[in-house]
Amino acid sequence: IDYHQARFVHSAPTLAHCLPDEGHEVAFAGRSNAGKSSAINALTGQKALARTSKTPGRTQLINFFELDDGTRHLVDLPGYGYAKVPEKVKLEWQRHLSAYLQKRRSLKGLVLMMDVRHPLTEFDQMMLAWADDADMPVHILLTKSDKLKRGAAAASLQKVRSALAEWDDLVSVQLFSSLKRQGLDTLAQTLNRWLAP
Ligand code: GDP
Repeated sequence: IDYHQARFVHSAPTLAHCLPDEGHEVAFAGRSNAGKSSAINALTGQKALARTSKTPGRTQLINFFELDDGTRHLVDLPGYGYAKVPEKVKLEWQRHLSAYLQKRRSLKGLVLMMDVRHPLTEFDQMMLAWADDADMPVHILLTKSDKLKRGAAAASLQKVRSALAEWDDLVSVQLFSSLKRQGLDTLAQTLNRWLAP
């Protein structure tokens, strides 16, 4: 699949406004600032396909990017975990994200971004629990791996793998750096597998 062909097609405020539940899609999720937009931009070779939205509390949208023949999509889910967001808004996001994971039949897998320096936050654990409930495969990108020395990055990878060993049939983990373009091939291989017709 040529991810460089990805193009923006649709924004949805809630699950009800998503594209029809047809074809194959993979979704990208992560705590705000984990490097999700940068990862999507690196994968697609486009500088500003996914916007980095730094404003807490701002309306968060589910963005759809179409690949090649229009039956396959990348889905950029709202970032989660802004400390300053009102409890009510947080609960709304949680409701939408969990419903999306549970109900979206075209969803074939979830790419979960975590900063290599502090993975498995409370929010990450929540996403993993929902994915597990939904029997949804998860591929974890330990992002910004260029921020750690090689040994420290490998240690973080090992720590996350051990913590999730129980789910190793459904969960895979890799190091990733958008800045150094490290790990793009492994990511693409996983997506190709999930998006195969
Ligand atoms: P998002 O909120 O998850 O979409 O995160 P962004 O992609 O906007 O990235 C958050 C911050 O981390 C930005 O300042 C990026 O420049 C930085 N960042 C993202 N990816 C990398 C990376 O691979 N290496 C480094 N050093 N910084 C990164």
